[in-house]
Amino acid sequence: MRHASRDYSLTPLNIYWEMTQACALACRHCRAAAMPDPHPGELTHAQGLAFIRQIPGFGDPMPTLILTGGDPLERRDLLPLIDEARRLGVEVSITPAATDALTRDVLATLAQHGVTGLGLSLDGSTAQRHDAIRGIEGTYVRTLAAIDWAGELGLPLQVNTLVTAETAADIPAVYELLKPLPLTRWSLFFLISVGRGAVLEPLSPADGEEFMRWVHGISCVAPFVVATTEAPSYRRVAMEEMRAAGLTPEQARRTRVARSFGVRDGHGVMFVSHLGEICPAGFLPIPLGDVRTDSIVDVYRDAPLFAALHDPRQLGGRCHHCQYQQICGGSRARAYSAFADPLAEDPFCPHLPPRYPADGAAAASFAGDPTSPTRQPAGAAR
Ligand code: SF4
Repeated sequence: MRHASRDYSLTPLNIYWEMTQACALACRHCRAAAMPDPHPGELTHAQGLAFIRQIPGFGDPMPTLILTGGDPLERRDLLPLIDEARRLGVEVSITPAATDALTRDVLATLAQHGVTGLGLSLDGSTAQRHDAIRGIEGTYVRTLAAIDWAGELGLPLQVNTLVTAETAADIPAVYELLKPLPLTRWSLFFLISVGRGAVLEPLSPADGEEFMRWVHGISCVAPFVVATTEAPSYRRVAMEEMRAAGLTPEQARRTRVARSFGVRDGHGVMFVSHLGEICPAGFLPIPLGDVRTDSIVDVYRDAPLFAALHDPRQLGGRCHHCQYQQICGGSRARAYSAFADPLAEDPFCPHLPPRYPADGAAAASFAGDPTSPTRQPAGAAR
């Protein structure tokens, strides 16, 4: 586990680069509000190279660079950018869109250029369900074909599946579909209502809790790692389930779920937008710097909001008082979406910490604090 000794306040586990917003799909939950053509202000080839050359500045172990979009296959200079990252020793994963451009030859070329991870989205157990989310007919068939090709080519594959009130009942069928397929990791993305995602309904906290207990049950027997995205409170649910099953805290910390402990938006995660803005996460689009003018290392370590996100004692409400704050810390993106405050409590989590004041007075402890780092205007933290 190369991230076991990583200090997430110094080095992210993953840097997500939204290479372009150009994409031929029209997914209903798209964060990027992808469009057919590139934005004229997206990072140029030279600016992309200069950004990539900053990554080794984090030291060893270096973060993994995850190329996303839009559709990264829309970047004509994709391969030279990958080559430069690999030359510098940076691991590269890619999350292409399932369009006609995603062929077996393209995946083989990516593997030849040293890409070490592929991410694909599968949001329904049938073509009708999946294509309804993706907005274009045929994406289900193309995704399943790409999953097979990844297996043939030996490309480590993560499949991402969207969890909403609309899709949750179908997720067990998606699991059955995926079980015999060659993936290494299945990540369940719990909807944050921004971008096109605002038209979909998230699960309620109570339904989310029940769903997470199901996720933990299958994670113990699945032939691949089962993880969640934007649902760090799953780690609390998993700890509760493991405690109920008789595991000691030490045994629980040696399980697969424990590998994600401590990672949250802005802490273990950094996002670079198509315009070069340095943000805590894709769903927490608060620009704290610019890769064209700022050091990504300095911004990640020292920008006031990043520094606050590295320190769970600065969280508000129930997350501030929670005994799970070190391993969880709540979804900062969901807090921002709900309260316009990335340090507020995660409204998706129903947990009431034992230390939480009975009158709930701390719930807004940071949300209304004018000295909170979150109150600074975007960009002021450079
Ligand atoms: S209260 Fe906050 S830190 Fe505690 S488990 Fe829930 S989301 Fe996580």
